Order: sequence, then C-alpha cells, then structure tokens
Amino acid sequence: MSARAGVVYLVGAGPGDPGLMTARSLELIAGADAIYYDRLIPPGALDGAREDAELVYVGKQPGVPSVPQEEIGARLVEAGRAGRSVVRLKGGDPFVFGRGGEEGEALREAGVEFEVVPGVTAGVAATAYAGIPVTHRDDASAVAFVTGHEGPEKEESALDWPALASFPGTLVFYMGVKRLGENAAALIDAGRDPEEPAAAIERGTWPGQRTVTATLGSIADVVAREEIKAPALIVVGEVARRREDLEWLERRPLHGRRVVVTRARAQASGLAATLRGLGAEVVELPAIRIEPRIETDEVRKVAGALGIYELVCLTSPNGVRLLFEAMENAGLDARALAGVTVAAIGPGTSRALAEGGVLADVVPERFVAEGLIEALEDTEVAGARVLVARAAEARDVLPDALRERGAEVDVVALYETVREQPSDDEVEAAQGADYVTFTSSSTVTNLTEALGDRFPKGARIVSIGPITSETVRAAGLEVDVEAERHDVDGLLAALLDDVR
Ligand code: SAH
Repeated sequence: MSARAGVVYLVGAGPGDPGLMTARSLELIAGADAIYYDRLIPPGALDGAREDAELVYVGKQPGVPSVPQEEIGARLVEAGRAGRSVVRLKGGDPFVFGRGGEEGEALREAGVEFEVVPGVTAGVAATAYAGIPVTHRDDASAVAFVTGHEGPEKEESALDWPALASFPGTLVFYMGVKRLGENAAALIDAGRDPEEPAAAIERGTWPGQRTVTATLGSIADVVAREEIKAPALIVVGEVARRREDLEWLERRPLHGRRVVVTRARAQASGLAATLRGLGAEVVELPAIRIEPRIETDEVRKVAGALGIYELVCLTSPNGVRLLFEAMENAGLDARALAGVTVAAIGPGTSRALAEGGVLADVVPERFVAEGLIEALEDTEVAGARVLVARAAEARDVLPDALRERGAEVDVVALYETVREQPSDDEVEAAQGADYVTFTSSSTVTNLTEALGDRFPKGARIVSIGPITSETVRAAGLEVDVEAERHDVDGLLAALLDDVR
C-alpha cells in the first residue's frame, strides 16, 4: 500500500537518527509526488524520494520569515485536490507539538483525504538515547509531555503550574530551553522539590547529542553554562538519576568525534557504517570515483580465456567485482577459474571473491603488493602464465617481481580511479573534523589537490599503511596514525587506539 493519489500523509520522521524512521514513512517518501518538509528531519530522510518528486521546504529558518501555518494547510489542501500523493514530513511525531492536528483539520474541512503516520517522538527517543527511562517501576508511574514555550499569542500563564508541580511522575518539556529559568522557578514556587533530579538533552539521537544533569533548582544555570541550545528536551524527575547506570550512547568510543571518510562513494558505506556504529559523526568526502573499464578489447579477451593462466592475482574488491562482471559479459561464470590458482591481496578482496563463489588460494599476511609477493614465494611461477587484474594506475611492484621470477605476466586494467570533486556542503561539513581517514594513495593526492587550503585544519590523519603515508607526507601533511594491519579493520583499530 504505497502513496495514493489525492491523499495527504501527515508523517512523523522521528527525532533525527535516520534509523528511527518508520518503514511506513520510508515507503511513503519513496512513492510521493510531493513532499512538504520541516527543518528538523533526519539527514538523508529525502534520499529515497522519487527523482521527479517535488520537494518543498516549509520549515523555519533563522532570520527568514517562515511559511505561516495557514498557508501550509492551504498548500496541502491544494496539492491533495490536484490529485497528487502528498507527504507532509515532520520531525518526531506529527501529533506531538507538531501542529499535525491543525493540518488534519484543514484537510478534513476541505474534504481532502488524509492519513497519519506516527513517528518516534523526541520525548521518548532523546530520553532513551540519553539513558533516561521516562517511566520506571520504582520512580515514575506516569509521564507528562509539556510545552515549555507556548505560542506568542497565548498568555504566559497558560500552563497550570500547581498541577504540574503535583504531577506524580516525570515531566518532559519540549521547546523548553529559552524559558527554562522562569519555568523551573514556577515549578518550584508551585511546590516541586528543587532537589529533584533534572536533565537537558540537546540534539537527542543526532551525532552530536549532549546531555547534562543537575537538579530542578540548578538545571537552568547548568544549561546556560554548558550552552545547551535548541532542539533540546528538559526532563524533571527521579528517572533522570537513572542515567548514571543507563547511559550508553555517549559512552561509545567515537561519540562526539567527526571522522572524514575519503573513499569512493561506492566503497565508503562499510567503513562509514562501522564508524557510525561506534558513535562517530561521519562526513563522506569522496575524492575518487571508480570508472569501470571492462568494455575494452583487452579485458574482453582476458575475461574470455582465464583458463590459460596458472595464477590470477586480484588487488582490490572492485577489481574482483568487475572481473566477474566481465566474465558474465563473456557468458562465463566462476567455473572459468577452475584449476587456476587465485591470489587476493587482502581479506576484502578475498571476501569479494567468495561472494562470487571463488575461495582465494593465497592471501598474504601484509595486505600490500609486497606482502602478496612474499605469500607467493612457495608458488612455482617460473614459465607460468600469470594475470594481474587491477586498477589502471597501480604500482608495478607485483608484475615486476613475478617477471623477475620467470613468470609470463599479463597486466589488465579493470577500472580507473578518477577524481571526484566534493561538493561545497561536504567540504563545509568536514571542517572541524577530528580525523581524516585515507585508505589509498589516490584518495590522498586527489583530495588534497581538490581541497587545497580548504583541507580540514587540526584533524588527525589516519593512514591505512606506509605507501599511503608516504603520499600524505609528499602532499605536505603529517601522518598522525598509521594502521598496523593494512586494511579497513586495521585502520579502524588504529583510530580507536588513538582515541584511547
Ligand atoms: N513533533 C516533534 C516535536 C516538535 S516541537 C516530536 O514529536 O518530537 C520541537 C521541540 O521538540 C524542540 O524544541 C525540542 O524540545 C524537541 N525536540 C525535537 N527533536 C529533538 C531532539 N532530537 N532532541 C531533543 N529535543 C528535540
């Protein structure tokens, strides 16, 4: 059941972590003709939208007059009447301080069909990510979601402070940073204990989440001192103390660190996901792109006759995938490598081989060309026909060494790495990074040339191995961390070591 024509979907996008978007929200985003979205939606929330979908920003922007609520309602009505499928995407849940109720009313009045898709609201998500259970058997049998900032048209005293002060449970204030001082004082005046634990959670579930704890009497000072800014939640209740035992997110080893990944987009996802899982804020700054070259006569010929080789050496997962593609183009499958000794430069490459149904015979302990040469020491290559399938611009150490040992070596280029110009937004996001990771020489050269003096200053540079490090130094930069194992896992281990 995807997006229907003439229906407006009031959809919650969750509190910020893209992983907390519901399956239904993703399905509707993927199907909608038009998406009207707010500021506080998760990064990448619209990535799955159709290419021809109309994306309309209707949120607030500092210093710019925002689209008035009535006008948003009117636009949704108009789009629905025009027979389009419309997603109205909001942060958190659309019916929790999201004005979704007003939009639904406008739609009903105009006779436009709508559906509501709940989202994970900040009041339960930011608190959970901060290690604060909003209810607890021993501490709180009830929880109240309260607005800390009524609309300007309302009387300041719209909240019933005596009722909130005597509320038997946790109070969670949305939009509560600006008026925190007044609100805390009002609660205490109305009888709430100033010694009751309290917490403020800034940008909950986002990479830079920050939490401070204090008492109701002191939370306003602490928030001011720590410069906690909106969006933030204020929690008042015994449960805030539970964080001492339940805090988890901010304890992850890379929490609060910004790490730049410079691999080609197609390759970056594994490293980026692992880094995010460890708590890092990842900025992808791809400096290179893989350009396949398997349509050449040279590759066609080689892929069609792999059986003539005694040894085939593969030096990257990309190379493996493209070799399989070239074999497929030639009407062949993994059996074309039957009887051939297959050598992989490292575990990533051998994994890619395994995905294609081929188990590598040789994988070195050091994942550089020199390591592969050592690993091949016991393989008799004199007089043998050997294929080295790799990138166009690779070093020649491996073919040279094999030739020296008497092998007849063919080298075939399966792809070329070409420069990718990172966007200004990506470069901007990389400023202030704590780490820049380099997994190959070509990324170093291309990125430093592409960025010039916009290379993030003060970031520590992590290199996958000695060859890459050399290129870093040649580019006039310093290597702060070099991996001992020259693969992505080794690079991660070295980075974690450095953080410790
Ligand atoms: N509909 C949203 C709330 C919108 S009101 C929801 O259900 O979550 C905006 C307020 O929500 C902010 O001022 C802040 O108090 C809170 N908020 C939204 N996202 C937040 C986040 N990631 N971390 C902490 N508070 C958040």
